Order: sequence, then structure tokens, then C-alpha cells
Amino acid sequence: MWDSLIIGSGPAGLGAAIYGKRAGLSVLVAEKEYMGTGQIAESGQVDNYLGLVGKSGYDLGEIFLEDAQKLGVEFYEGEAVAFEKKENSWSVLFENGEVIKAKTVIYGAGPKHRPLGLPEEADYAGKGISYCAICDGAFYKGKTAVVVGGGNTALDDALYLSDICAQVYLVHRRDEFRGSARTLQKIREKENITVITNAVITAVSGEKKVEEVTLNNGTQLKTDAVFVAVGMIPHTEHLKNLLELDTQGYVVADETGKTSQEGFFVAGDVRTKHLRQVITAVADGANAAVSASEYIRQL
Ligand code: NAP
Repeated sequence: MWDSLIIGSGPAGLGAAIYGKRAGLSVLVAEKEYMGTGQIAESGQVDNYLGLVGKSGYDLGEIFLEDAQKLGVEFYEGEAVAFEKKENSWSVLFENGEVIKAKTVIYGAGPKHRPLGLPEEADYAGKGISYCAICDGAFYKGKTAVVVGGGNTALDDALYLSDICAQVYLVHRRDEFRGSARTLQKIREKENITVITNAVITAVSGEKKVEEVTLNNGTQLKTDAVFVAVGMIPHTEHLKNLLELDTQGYVVADETGKTSQEGFFVAGDVRTKHLRQVITAVADGANAAVSASEYIRQL
């Protein structure tokens, strides 16, 4: 039996792995994707992670992974789908049917992309609808792309795509943006970005792939791609009947990572918190590992 089974190999999970390992715990990190580093890999340049300012999100994730590997952290590929407490241990069921046992679980599975909510959205996923400009932008060199959203992700995506695509439309449902004023200014200075406010996409159409979007004001835009950047939702669907969640689906927990279940800790973007950034995810991982170590000592 492992001391800690860590779910997620993003900054929170790897932060927990390093602190757990250094506290003398046996830790196993379960990751959904082989050698994955979470959503950080989708970030362009990360300008606010102390000590490594200016690295790409992908590179930062790789550095975190290497650090964990150097400490001898072990990894397991699979998606955890059910959690059961038996006396003083947890049995975690994976989608492949395998069950892994641990004294503690540190859950840092991060968030997933919020969909637009259109009925046809799933049909066009990978056929023009994308949730990651850094990953898929290069497919649309010299073409047209629509970016949806008004937060920093949408603004960064629009700017990034404007260097690849011939034309970018930024569609936002309000006329005020959540994203940085500085990035918005750069967007307004770009000749190939058209900002459309007070509009939402009501339909996506195209024969075999995205060809056109319709907005609620009746406008139709010819486009090759739609990059959806309308925020994230926590990856907590498997925790619904287990832990206390808030109305948005985040696990209720303070910075110790302690949840409503003894021996089950959370770290990173899945917990209720004020600031969701790489630096706070790493810190959460450290806190959760220390909490897990204290709990094991009490056992
Ligand atoms: P976000 O800040 O929550 O913004 C989501 C945007 O999508 C909002 O503008 C929202 O509109 C819009 N939206 C939500 N649901 C929608 C729907 N169904 N249809 C149309 N529009 C919808 O999410 P984010 O941009 O992914 O950023 C998440 C966090 O990461 C933020 O704290 C952000 O600052 C941070 N981040 C930082 C950087 C950076 O520092 N460079 C880069 C990326 C992300 P309303 O505004 O009307 O609610």
C-alpha cells in the first residue's frame, strides 16, 4: 500500500510528490496522459513564476516533471474514476479496472475546459473547434480563426493566433473584458484582429469541418477554426458524492488541503481558493503533502 496516491501530474500533483517524497512517504502519481504536465503545457509564456520567468508553459511543466523524476517519484498512467474509504485506507478505482490502495489521496486533477454549450460542439471537436490555441494554432497558418471569450486566455490566444492566421475574430459576450488591459491594447493595435463585443456564437456549421459561425446578432463569419476560451471548470465529477463541493463544483478546502473526508486532500485549481495560478498550485501541493504526512503519522 502506498502512503500517498497523488491524482494529477500538473504543478499541484508534482509539488505534492516532491514534498511527499522528501517527507519520507512512498508516493505514486497517477496521470491521465503519459508524461502529462497538466494545463500548464497549454500556456504560451509564463511571466509570473518566480525564478523561471519567461519560460513557456510546456518547458516549465517538463522542468517540474524532471525534478520529480530525479527524486525517484513513480508514475502510473490512468484516470481515477471512483474512491472508497476502507478503515484507514483508500481504494482508488481506475478506468481500466485496476484498484490502487493508499493511506492518503492527494487530488490535484486540475480543471478542464468549459465548453460553449452548443449541441454541435462535440461533432466539430478536432474538426475546427479547439480549446488550445498553443496546441492547434499552427494548423491554421494563413487561415481565419474565431476566438471566443473575454478573459486572459482568450486575449492571449487572439494575439498568439494573429501571428499565424491571416484573420482573427475575437468574439466576447460583453463589452468589458476580464483580461489584461495591456493585452487588449495590443490586440486593438493588430490590423488582422477584429473585436466583436456583445455577441455570442449560436451555431457552428460546415460540411465536414468548421466553415462558418453564426452570432446572436445575425452576423455570419466564414472561419476555419473556433478557439473556445471561456474559462475552466474543475475536474471533480467523480467526487460529487464523496466530498463537500461548492456550487461551482470546487472541493471545499483551505490551504491545508483537508477535505470533508479524513485522509483525502486536495491541491491546486480543484479547491476553493482566491488565486488559481501555477505558483499557488505548487504551494497547494506542498501543503497537501505535509498534511498527508501529518495524518499518516497520527495513524
Ligand atoms: P476567465 O477569466 O474565467 O474568462 C472566461 C471568459 O469567458 C469571460 O470573459 C467570460 O465572460 C467568458 N464566458 C464564460 N462562459 C461563456 C459562455 N458560455 N459563452 C461565452 N463567453 C463565456 O477564464 P480564462 O481566460 O481561462 O482565465 C482563467 C484564469 O487564468 C484567470 O484568472 C486568468 O487571469 C488566468 N490566466 C492568466 C494569464 C496571464 O496571466 N497571461 C493567461 C491565461 C489565463 P464574462 O467576462 O462575461 O464572464
